[in-house]
Amino acid sequence: MIKIRNIHKRFGFDTILDGIDLDIIKGQVVVILGPSGSGKTTFLRCLNALEVPEQGSIEFEAPPPLLVDFARMPDQNQILALRRRSGMVFQQYNLFPHKTALENVMEAPVQVQGKSPVEARLQASELLEKVGLADKASLYPEQLSGGQQQRVGIARALALQPELMLFDEPTSALDPELVQDVLKTMKDLANEGRTMLVVTHEIQFALDVADVVVVMDEGKIVEKGFPDDLFREPKHERTRAFLSRIA
Ligand code: ATP
Repeated sequence: MIKIRNIHKRFGFDTILDGIDLDIIKGQVVVILGPSGSGKTTFLRCLNALEVPEQGSIEFEAPPPLLVDFARMPDQNQILALRRRSGMVFQQYNLFPHKTALENVMEAPVQVQGKSPVEARLQASELLEKVGLADKASLYPEQLSGGQQQRVGIARALALQPELMLFDEPTSALDPELVQDVLKTMKDLANEGRTMLVVTHEIQFALDVADVVVVMDEGKIVEKGFPDDLFREPKHERTRAFLSRIA
């Protein structure tokens, strides 16, 4: 279990996250929905310590247990430990433009984990094969479609064997015809039993793949439930308003 408690984040005088609590069970896919500006991206970034909350904690219970309490400024070791346990897939891919697909996937295992280049290359090849890009290993990001770049981004996040995969609107920058390939890769990961926290507006993905759907509004979780229940009978007025806008 991963326990997230009471996450608070401000930018200047604006409260962006106002006490987020969430438990994620191993193997669960949790989808986060919510209107623009509700704090979804900021929440994911806090979990990976790309933003540091003023309050709250994250606990990975699986051995070796890790508890990061943001009430005290985490030290560099804790931040690195947190980043090793969660892999982030960004909206805009964020690949290194001067490195090939294979080199992008090899980078973190060599630099962060100290893996030998030979070992990292072998693992990166396997990961590119897993995301359907074995034949694109030697191409540079600009030679790949957006969907292919995003799948390299997924392979890169998987390379550190994270316990939790964080996806921040991974298909929102893609042309519609490329969205399905990326969603298919994510479904395959879910079917493998990976623990995933996914911010997306893809309702069908949530219905097909999510174990739990969480709705955020103004920095709070306003509703949480099984996808079928939540879409059929949203309980909170904010959820109803949000779903009626995107339906
Ligand atoms: P979207 O669906 O549009 O991506 P979101 O729910 O992911 O939105 P966030 O990106 O987390 O929302 O932003 C929440 C609020 O925090 C917004 O009002 C945004 O302007 C503000 N914000 C985000 N990052 C910063 C920052 N670095 N400095 C100041 N304000 C920020």
